[in-house]
Amino acid sequence: MRSFIGALRIVLVYFVFSLCWILFSDALLEYFVQDVARLTTIQTYKGIFFIFVTSLLLFLLIKSNIFAIYKVQKKLQENEQRLKFVIQGANLGYWDWDYVNNKHVVNDKWLEFLGLSRMDIQDKVSDWSELIHPEDKMVTQRAIQKAIFDFLPYVIEFRMKHKDGHWVWIEGSGAVVEKDEITNKPLRLAGTHKNISFRKKANEKITFLALNDALTKLPNRIFLKTKLEEFLEEAIKNKMSLAFLFLDLDYFKNINDVYGHSVGDKVIQDVALRFKNVLNDSDFIARVGGDEFVILTSDSLHVEELCKDLAHSIEKPFDVGNEKISLGVSVGIALFPHDGDNFEALFKNADTAMYAAKNSGKNRYKFYTQDMSDVIFKSTKMDNEMKRAIENDEFTLHYQPQIDLKTGAIVGVEALVRWLDPIKGLIPPNDFIPRAEANRLMIPMGEIIFKKALVQMKEWSASGLFDGKMAINISGVQIEEEDFVTLFESILQEVGVDARKIELEVTESAIMKDAKSSQVTLLKLRNLGFSVSIDDFGTGYSSLSYLKQLPINKLKIDRAFIKDLPYDNDDIAISKVIIALAKNLELQVLAEGVETEEQRIFLLENGCDTAQGYLFAKPMNADSFAQFAKKK
Ligand code: C2E
Ligand code: CA
Ligand code: CA
Repeated sequence: MRSFIGALRIVLVYFVFSLCWILFSDALLEYFVQDVARLTTIQTYKGIFFIFVTSLLLFLLIKSNIFAIYKVQKKLQENEQRLKFVIQGANLGYWDWDYVNNKHVVNDKWLEFLGLSRMDIQDKVSDWSELIHPEDKMVTQRAIQKAIFDFLPYVIEFRMKHKDGHWVWIEGSGAVVEKDEITNKPLRLAGTHKNISFRKKANEKITFLALNDALTKLPNRIFLKTKLEEFLEEAIKNKMSLAFLFLDLDYFKNINDVYGHSVGDKVIQDVALRFKNVLNDSDFIARVGGDEFVILTSDSLHVEELCKDLAHSIEKPFDVGNEKISLGVSVGIALFPHDGDNFEALFKNADTAMYAAKNSGKNRYKFYTQDMSDVIFKSTKMDNEMKRAIENDEFTLHYQPQIDLKTGAIVGVEALVRWLDPIKGLIPPNDFIPRAEANRLMIPMGEIIFKKALVQMKEWSASGLFDGKMAINISGVQIEEEDFVTLFESILQEVGVDARKIELEVTESAIMKDAKSSQVTLLKLRNLGFSVSIDDFGTGYSSLSYLKQLPINKLKIDRAFIKDLPYDNDDIAISKVIIALAKNLELQVLAEGVETEEQRIFLLENGCDTAQGYLFAKPMNADSFAQFAKKK
């Protein structure tokens, strides 16, 4: 258009100038020159002058136009060059599509991305659109159509097939770059291709790591959460139930402790693989903690079989170092919709059921029930209350006399703890000691009890009220502590009581839990001057050969064997055996829970030294004991 106007302008200027010359030059000349001969000569010169001037004019006009065209062309070349540099520098493939003639031109980079040479591809659009991944065809077609019909430029991501068969991720941009001004139809489209495979792979890796566990490559907790949503949606749609299994390996910590973490890691990987092999394709497994896994299955009818198969799969030995070990797993099951309809509820309840499975002996599965939560709720509540009780000094001691069966004299007194809660009142030890042992608050509590009993003993000794021994109960978790003996020794010195006045009661089961180390601890205690008695004797399956080696002074026959004396034949036999055993090992013997006169006589006649029980006195507070002792 611009060239047309340029040409028209030149012609127009020429036309106007020539017209004026023709119309006015002769008339003007005739006006000044009358001589005909001179006129002819001058007219010749005028013609030459005309040609000269118009030539000059034409030259100037054409020159200025050609110069302008040259300038535009130069600029265009520069731009083209610059674009080429940019495209090359940005590592971009470039395509140019003559829409009218359906000719498609690409640069070398474009071909290089797909491992193609010029021979491999024609100049038809259909050629290269065939290389697009079937799943991405829709996206690309839509983008190109929008560019063609709505003149909307696009940037999209799609895959194209490399010559060697693998898929290359491309970020493609495109737009109509030329259109017919009159019909408004696109004439040319152009755009770029960028190879983004590397970026895509890095992104995929990041996404994978964010959703999967690095060690086992199993989905992690975040993945589980989104997967559960899918399972729930499906279950709701099909009106089906869904089982949420929480798995925790039994005694896995021991493997890490004994064989080291790299062996532990290997075992976890193997376990993950074995679990996976048990599952159906539709089941889902995630690793949610060190040795914790979650399985989702829609097949909730066969969940018990699944649990058995899972346990079975890890029974077969694993290689650890030079040894082979088999593993157990505790499984808690929560069912949708019964036990929860969201991630938090199902996770929490399955976890609770898993703990219940652990507590009831490990290597088993348990379905969640409401009372499991109640127990846990109560326990955590109690933990907090117990911590507060220790801080507020809410523990107090009651005392039960121990009687010499022959003389009836008080030979000892057992200190028995009670918790004086400001609201609930006096709480008996059986209601809180098992929990205190589980949460290990028994350790600070035992220290308080020991100290209180010593202070009381010192007071009674000083006043001459009582000259026997103070028996103090020691829990299994206390003797397991490394500094137990030194701690007791320092408290003994601090309060200033003679160790020979103190008898420590340790249950048979606590000793037998780790007989070897118990023996060492008891020996140290004995060397400090303490007496040691075995509490609840007869209930802990101690081996007789072991008993002989233990540095102990007394056996306390458990109340269970005294209760039905002198009528139950078994109890008669057992109590007689225990008394005889004590005599043979040169140990003292005490009968617990003596409530009747008949029991007292039976025990006396069968050689039992001492007894304790409601028949003589119930446990009582310090003041009542003082009065009781005075009366004797
Ligand atoms: P235990 O050491 O066997 O204590 C004897 C328990 O039998 C005491 O219960 C006592 O009140 C009860 N008893 C005594 N005579 C009779 C009787 O004639 N009939 C009946 N039915 N019961 C009798 P208590 O005080 O409730 O203590 C229960 C258990 O709690 C103790 O059993 C002991 O295992 C534990 N315990 C109590 N105080 C302490 C403590 O200070 N430290 C530790 N570690 N455990 C303690
Ligand atoms: Ca006791
Ligand atoms: Ca006992």
